[in-house]
Amino acid sequence: MDATDTLMHDGDGEIVTSTEFTAAPSSFENGLPANGMVGAPSVAVALKPDGVKRDNDLSDYDIIPLKDAPKPPKFEHLPYATAQTGLIYDVRMRFHVEAIPTEDDVHPEDPRRIHAIFEAFVQAGLAWRESTSGPLTDYYMGRIDARMVTEEEVLLVHTKAHWDWVQSLSSRTADELEDYMQHDGQERLDSVYLSPSTPYCAALSAGGAIEACRATLLGKVKNVFAIIRPPGHHAEREDAKGFCFFDNVSIATKACQREFGSACRKVLILDWDVHHGNGIQQANYDDPNVLYISLHVHESGRFYPELSYRDKRGPYGDHLHCGEGAGLGRNVNIPWSRKGMGDADYIYAFQQVVMPIATEFDPDLVIIAAGFDAAEGDMLGGCKVTPAGYAHMTHMLMSLAGGKLAVCLEGGYNLDSIARSATAVSRTLMGQPPDRLEHTNPSTSGVDDIKEVLRQQSKFWTSLYPKDLSARLAGPQQGERMHDVIRNWQATTLWDDYQMSPLFVHRESLSKSFEKQVLAT
Ligand SMILES: [Zn+2]
Repeated sequence: MDATDTLMHDGDGEIVTSTEFTAAPSSFENGLPANGMVGAPSVAVALKPDGVKRDNDLSDYDIIPLKDAPKPPKFEHLPYATAQTGLIYDVRMRFHVEAIPTEDDVHPEDPRRIHAIFEAFVQAGLAWRESTSGPLTDYYMGRIDARMVTEEEVLLVHTKAHWDWVQSLSSRTADELEDYMQHDGQERLDSVYLSPSTPYCAALSAGGAIEACRATLLGKVKNVFAIIRPPGHHAEREDAKGFCFFDNVSIATKACQREFGSACRKVLILDWDVHHGNGIQQANYDDPNVLYISLHVHESGRFYPELSYRDKRGPYGDHLHCGEGAGLGRNVNIPWSRKGMGDADYIYAFQQVVMPIATEFDPDLVIIAAGFDAAEGDMLGGCKVTPAGYAHMTHMLMSLAGGKLAVCLEGGYNLDSIARSATAVSRTLMGQPPDRLEHTNPSTSGVDDIKEVLRQQSKFWTSLYPKDLSARLAGPQQGERMHDVIRNWQATTLWDDYQMSPLFVHRESLSKSFEKQVLAT
């Protein structure tokens, strides 16, 4: 069976099974970009729809222009308002499936997730599905090609050993992988399933995230929605975890910082997936130029991801984890102490914490790690954020970074909920105001959780209150000596009245304490 033909036909709602697509992993090996592609980052890694690498250095845009590829803004006086929203969706990301699927127990990270979202965009009139005639309207989202991430890009975040391990999956059969998961991989694999196509899909997913951010930064689109899977925010430096293999948004962040320099120096990653993005936190923990803000259910550490396999360290999604070294104050966890949080809680968190911090940080690019498992109806999340709630959060984030916003899919397991939520986000990206919210009163528990975060984060951000004064009172270097205050006032007054100016004290050891004490006309 020719895998490509089936996959390029996107209208079916069937689950893709691994046995149908055993051809994919072998072409993945050939599809790896040749050395040097990374050195010319403005060129997308060339890849035919069947996964075979082209030998020239032309991008897919140049060879088979997509009929719904992004078009330039229509009105030069309103370049942002009349530019298109980008869309990344590649049906080949559905290859990653359970090695041996079970009929009665479908894994929540189901290939149909991305299909459901794309289909909802088409039904809502936001996107165009490939057919015989061209797009009917210019108002559709502009399609951008996904491509496979390179090894070099992955190594910006992960170890070589991790890259090699992911690649090795393509050479194993479904039975071998099943056996590995049951036995050797038991401890190492935390909530992950494997298939021979996993490396292929993980590479497309991470590459899709990079291309989404690049398209925004290059001004090809005003903002972008990347429907990608497998998700990425749980993947750690050396481990796959929580359905994730490569940390898509961290890789995209670091790749864009490298390519765009000062045009993309500071990046805000806002993670509204209901789970803490342990991988993103780890990848950027000491980076002063990446602000990571995560809203997630924490339940005092009892909610996934509780522990790390490597060092058995405790839950690190609490509000006390604020970054380290130069990155201190650039990690903001907003942990909900219980499930059931709704729109009003999220909006309150945005108004009290997210937007003041993000405004102060003033990013060059905003990436949303957009899991929709806090959505109403999700079986894992147990929260009740509505499509309107997601739209409002998107709307607020669009005010940052000159509107350069890339939305990258993470979790979300109720097909109907994720489709409706993602559609609301895309409509907002395209310029439609968010629907009005039904509930606007945050819960007491939510307000209390935010209070804890404010107390902690106000140490790092001027606009946040209440300030914790204990640190100021503790050390002498935090205060100003009364002596200095008086001498300062005296020197200013004497200058104003008599033009007396302080004499410069030459001796280093004396200069501090005798500053502004010797004045002369
Ligand atoms: Zn999640």
